[in-house]
Amino acid sequence: MKKPILYVIIPCYNEEEVLELTCGIFTDEINELIRKNKISEKSRIVYIDDGSRDKTWDIITRLSIDNICINGIRLSRNRGHQNAVLAGLLESKDVCDISITIDCDGQDDIHAMENMVDAYTDGADIVYGVRSDRSTDTFFKRFTAEAYYRLLNMMGVEVIFNHADYRLMSSKVLQELSKFKEVNLFLRGMVSLIGYKSTSVYYGRHERMGGKSHYPLRKMLILAFDGITSLSVKPIRLITALGFFIAFLSFIGIIWIVIGTINGNTIEGWASSTCLICLVSGVQMMSLGVIGEYIGKIYLEVKARPRYIVSERTDKGKKIGEHE
Ligand code: UDP
Ligand code: MG
Repeated sequence: MKKPILYVIIPCYNEEEVLELTCGIFTDEINELIRKNKISEKSRIVYIDDGSRDKTWDIITRLSIDNICINGIRLSRNRGHQNAVLAGLLESKDVCDISITIDCDGQDDIHAMENMVDAYTDGADIVYGVRSDRSTDTFFKRFTAEAYYRLLNMMGVEVIFNHADYRLMSSKVLQELSKFKEVNLFLRGMVSLIGYKSTSVYYGRHERMGGKSHYPLRKMLILAFDGITSLSVKPIRLITALGFFIAFLSFIGIIWIVIGTINGNTIEGWASSTCLICLVSGVQMMSLGVIGEYIGKIYLEVKARPRYIVSERTDKGKKIGEHE
């Protein structure tokens, strides 16, 4: 079997503190895999600078001059982790045989890459990196993450438990991924929709090697909400079901009021009516909000704006893989 060309896709946002630290680890791993004859010498590392405001791009440019195996692309502004990963994947899809996406902070165990490549050689087109333990996470992060995976599954979104975006995909999968034209990205859910043979590789997750997290609770909540509303219409159906349930309750309530009136024991029920009005208007507002969320999404999808814009490239602006 021909040795596959591996492209490691690494998104970076304001990562000047950690880039150089982890770059050596990534290149060592690639060289090790080349030495073991598991991947081709044409394998590369592709850094995607997601519109950083610090020296990230300067560092990437320098690294790419020092090391031919490193490429960089710079997005015109910060678009978020998911879009940066997609940019790297789509830019590499025609020149690599396999891609592995990984964060640049050294949190995900780099040695799992070898197992991923082995799984590909054994016939898998998608290899999910799955965290074997979350002991380095806070209790809050662990609890919310696990509750979220359960919620996603209840909503009918297929995701692998404890898998983030550390994943191997073959070029066949990338070609299919490029046909998904949506703007609201939740890659781990989209990849499961593609199908093909998949498997999982387990790894431990460490602390960041430097710098700080760019995924505050706010961004995590946005991604979590996007995950559900981009891939599932169950919330709309739940609202319809809720509507029916409330209508049914009101119907019983009306019968109860009519019987009460006939029996002559009408009371001043100010409190109960007010409570009902509050409840019903609250539920209506909530329902409108969720429906609005979907309409907002339709609005964005209909515009079909580009999902990322490259402003600069290392290697004199050539496309990735062009100089080979
Ligand atoms: N990242 C990005 N764009 C963003 C935020 C983050 O490309 O807007 C990158 C970041 O540089 C890192 C990866 O996404 O390589 C994961 O981010 P981070 O480590 O901050 O998240 P955490 O691991 O804390 O969830
Ligand atoms: Mg991280």
